[in-house]
Amino acid sequence: MSEFADLLPRTRIAYFTMEIALRPEMHTYAGGLGVLAGDTARSCADLSLPVVFVTLINREGYLRQEINGAGSQVVKPDPWTPEDWARPLDAMIALEIGDRAVWVRPWLYLLRSPAGGVVPVLLLDTRLDQNDPEDRGITDSLYGDGDEYRLKQEIVLGIGGVRILNALGFAIETFHMNEGHSALLAASLLCRYPHQFGNKTADGLKFDADRVRERCVFTTHTPVEAGHDKFDYGSVERFVGKILPVDQLRLLGGENHLNMTRLALNLSGFINGVAERHADITRKMFPVFRIREITNGIHVATWAHPAVAKLYDKVAPSWRHEPEELVNADLIENEAIWSAHQGAKEELIAEVKRLTGQELSPDIPLIAFARRMTGYKRPDLLFEDTDRLRRIAKDRPFQVVMAGKAHPNDATGQAIIRELHEHARKLSDDIPMAFLPDYGMSLAKVLVSGADIWLNTPLPPYEASGTSGMKAAVNGGLNLSVLDGWWLEGWIEGDTGWSIGADGSDPKRHARMLYDKLEGTVLPLYYDDRRGWIRMMKEAMGKIGCRFNSQRMMRRYASEAYLK
Ligand SMILES: *Cc1c(COP(=O)(O)O)cnc(C)c1O
Repeated sequence: MSEFADLLPRTRIAYFTMEIALRPEMHTYAGGLGVLAGDTARSCADLSLPVVFVTLINREGYLRQEINGAGSQVVKPDPWTPEDWARPLDAMIALEIGDRAVWVRPWLYLLRSPAGGVVPVLLLDTRLDQNDPEDRGITDSLYGDGDEYRLKQEIVLGIGGVRILNALGFAIETFHMNEGHSALLAASLLCRYPHQFGNKTADGLKFDADRVRERCVFTTHTPVEAGHDKFDYGSVERFVGKILPVDQLRLLGGENHLNMTRLALNLSGFINGVAERHADITRKMFPVFRIREITNGIHVATWAHPAVAKLYDKVAPSWRHEPEELVNADLIENEAIWSAHQGAKEELIAEVKRLTGQELSPDIPLIAFARRMTGYKRPDLLFEDTDRLRRIAKDRPFQVVMAGKAHPNDATGQAIIRELHEHARKLSDDIPMAFLPDYGMSLAKVLVSGADIWLNTPLPPYEASGTSGMKAAVNGGLNLSVLDGWWLEGWIEGDTGWSIGADGSDPKRHARMLYDKLEGTVLPLYYDDRRGWIRMMKEAMGKIGCRFNSQRMMRRYASEAYLK
């Protein structure tokens, strides 16, 4: 208890996120957004930044993915045991959601850095005897079904989170919203600042939004309008009406729907996109706001394979604290890099065998594609012309490992998983392929460290940033990717990796450009010029590792967004 009591008075910033990947056993994340939040927290701990994280407890997790005999995704619940990792705190608040009071209690998880820093994470929980049985489940299922359920979750996270922080005695100066899910927090702050000189108008009090903007930071992650969280005002009236003035929400969050991105934009004094291109796109979507850019990064110490970490220790002794030192990666000996990488690749191959029975070879280049299975990520692009793919593999063989979950409401994503299995079956004589079930943090570690080539084929401009390619790079994996998100900044052709097409190429031609690059450049380098390949591994490790890390990202948030 005393450790938490020590942390409490020095904490000045609260980081709100619907999901966060703290450790594989805690199923409080779904994908990239949560892993980014987790890496953010790990860097805050390394740097001893005075931040508290606020999220939901998500007792039932997101989903556990199985693949059935027909190659279809089967969704299972994915519960975890909060008692094993966190403890409930003696504080509770009640929120009027609709007709009932909903009690919320925080659990505390302490995230520790090997460097000695600690950050508290509060996991909000409504599974309490005091609550109506229906309300007990509000904090159970991450991205659970139905708009009303999601709205209630966002009420608990945003409004409940602020009240819990107050109840515990935190004196928070800055609130950071990771995506729009927690935007109600800003609206709830508004109610603390009735405008001193504002007359009471027909639609209620006037509020001093500038006071709120001084305290709110908003990071948006969604490059398309359709991706923004929206709620109809009927539900908003019904569930939020007793807590916040809905007329005011309408003014700030949009006339027809409560758009959480718009609400957060209107109430934040510092707004940023997660890559340069993504900030450009956001500026075009919302021209009246000043949008900065802070490109995402990864927590290198979490994602570097232990054998690779050992090599870094030799040439860059302080890399865990200051990953800028990874510029020294070119000092690592060729043989040492190759054998560390081959070791990691053998571990991946063993995992593929264990999970699917598929045999792969350490001597054949391994292409990995692991990401959310959804339309814009185009996981099927590699298979657009299977005859051509087969011919390429006849000349210079390669093998493919894929993984990724589809949201249960995403019919396209689920169809893609079935198609990938179909392709794997049809191509099996020429191209060894495997689909690994239940992509999550543990599997990601094995994949990013064992892959030779990290393939990424999103439809621009849908990839706000992407971070998995950074994880591959710090392990010596070479990115072969469409130019979108962070890759526009990290890409140096033939040095840190390769592009698929040029910036602005017709997406319909991406498959052909992918085949051309694979056949004409990537596979020949692997087979005919191993020294050249290893040189690129080192360039990727150094030039990508030294920049696209969460230490740099958090130092920027701290100096530019928090210390305004
Ligand atoms: C890093 C990571 C992501 C992010 O992947 P991108 O597709 O590059 O955005 C998603 N899921 C897991 C499990 C990860 O580790």
